Amino acid sequence: MKYISTRDKTISISSSEGIIQGLSKEGGLFVPRSIPKLDNLMALKEMEYKGLAYVIMKEFFTDFENDRLKNCIEKAYDNKFSTDHIVPVIKAGDAFFLELFHGPTLAFKDMALSILPYLLKESMRINNIQKEIAILTATSGDTGKAALEGFANVKGIKIIVFFPEYGVSQVQKMQMLTQEGNNTFVVGINGNFDDAQGGVKDIFNNNHFINLLGKNNYLLSSANSINIGRLIPQIVYYFHGYLTLLREKSIKENEKINIAVPTGNFGNILAAYYAKEMGLPVNKLICASNENNVLSQFIDTGIYDRRRRLILTSSPSMDILLSSNLERLLFHLSGGDSVLVKDKMVELAELGYYKMDNLDLRDFYGSYSTEEEVGFEINKMFMDNNHLIDPHTAVAYNVYQKYKSETNDNTKTIIASTASPFKFGGKVVSSIGIDINNKDEFEIIEKLGSKTNVKIPKAIEDLKDKEIAHKNNCDREGMEDILRKFLKVGI
Ligand SMILES: *Cc1c(COP(=O)(O)O)cnc(C)c1O
Repeated sequence: MKYISTRDKTISISSSEGIIQGLSKEGGLFVPRSIPKLDNLMALKEMEYKGLAYVIMKEFFTDFENDRLKNCIEKAYDNKFSTDHIVPVIKAGDAFFLELFHGPTLAFKDMALSILPYLLKESMRINNIQKEIAILTATSGDTGKAALEGFANVKGIKIIVFFPEYGVSQVQKMQMLTQEGNNTFVVGINGNFDDAQGGVKDIFNNNHFINLLGKNNYLLSSANSINIGRLIPQIVYYFHGYLTLLREKSIKENEKINIAVPTGNFGNILAAYYAKEMGLPVNKLICASNENNVLSQFIDTGIYDRRRRLILTSSPSMDILLSSNLERLLFHLSGGDSVLVKDKMVELAELGYYKMDNLDLRDFYGSYSTEEEVGFEINKMFMDNNHLIDPHTAVAYNVYQKYKSETNDNTKTIIASTASPFKFGGKVVSSIGIDINNKDEFEIIEKLGSKTNVKIPKAIEDLKDKEIAHKNNCDREGMEDILRKFLKVGI
């Protein structure tokens, strides 16, 4: 299996090379040249998560030796997940919640970032690379912590995370600032997520700086969802969700399902699209945005328009106007037209918008939720079903409700449940009517636990006693300087 760039399809590399590089050098993203088909899905019915992960990943990571890939999977999905099933599927109300947040940092990013360090290490071995790797990551909150956790104390790797100072939840911030491991660096940016991501992309595109790092024996890589080593492991849980429903006889063989995904950088829903292309019986992919509704608007109109101000919402991991992975979908849906994709990305950079004609988006439905609707759904879900959901998951559930009332489609639906409600306690408690006046984040969490009788995750309990280990802050313009300082690289 070869990977080609969305902006120049003559560039073709192996999976291990793609994992090391992250982004293609002309700014494109790597995509599999073709999407493999999994025939005889029903034969996989009894497989547990790790076995299934192997069956799927070996189709994509073809230059990994079988036993070594198996080993990566074994190490990633172990007891750092709080449940043996890794990803439980919970029925509540009229939907099935695919709970992706039982990993160490309580958000779905753990599903990929638990395995990425092992894939990267193995990729370096395959390509005989002796350099030290510097992982550069922009985060809207969850990626940063999951990457730090995954890469902390991994030999030969340094991890640097940039987060928007005023764009993450209190718990997210605490999780990052208390990160241990002397190869970890965390920096608050005076700006929003797009500033952080834009700054990271600038560094990746600065050849002078990359060469300088090279001379100092560093290789730059990324843990953002632009890396195929993140995207591919995310395909697994959609198959797992489907097969779980099949085992429990909630669906029949070959019955189609809908999948609703709370979407920001378009990574998670793209993995669902890949699953569908591989043969998973999917009816609609429901793309749910928060008030930063660039994506749902694109699906509705074919116009991607980022000329607006970013709104800070209670689902900060979706507060994004530049959705990187959409570029991959454009590539696939345009039949691999890398010239077209490149033109559109230039338009987006220069004009702030682009329009796609004749793109067949029928696999998708898109809509968005307001803050009020998010609060309403959290409350209603809890009152009716005693099931607590976080604001991101509530966005997906709300958009699913809109889809249902618009279409009368009764296809069974999986909601990607992307974070623990305790990670975004403030919005959750205020939605279910608990008084939180003058309470700090940890008091709010205590209250949420005691009022709802839901157990507070240990990762949050532990946070209280941890010390702040990172105190760095800079502007977008200062990111390169601070990186030089961490890596001890001169001018
Ligand atoms: C990252 C994240 C999302 C958005 O996922 P994308 O792959 O960026 O679309 C949604 N919910 C949570 C909790 C997240 O951490």
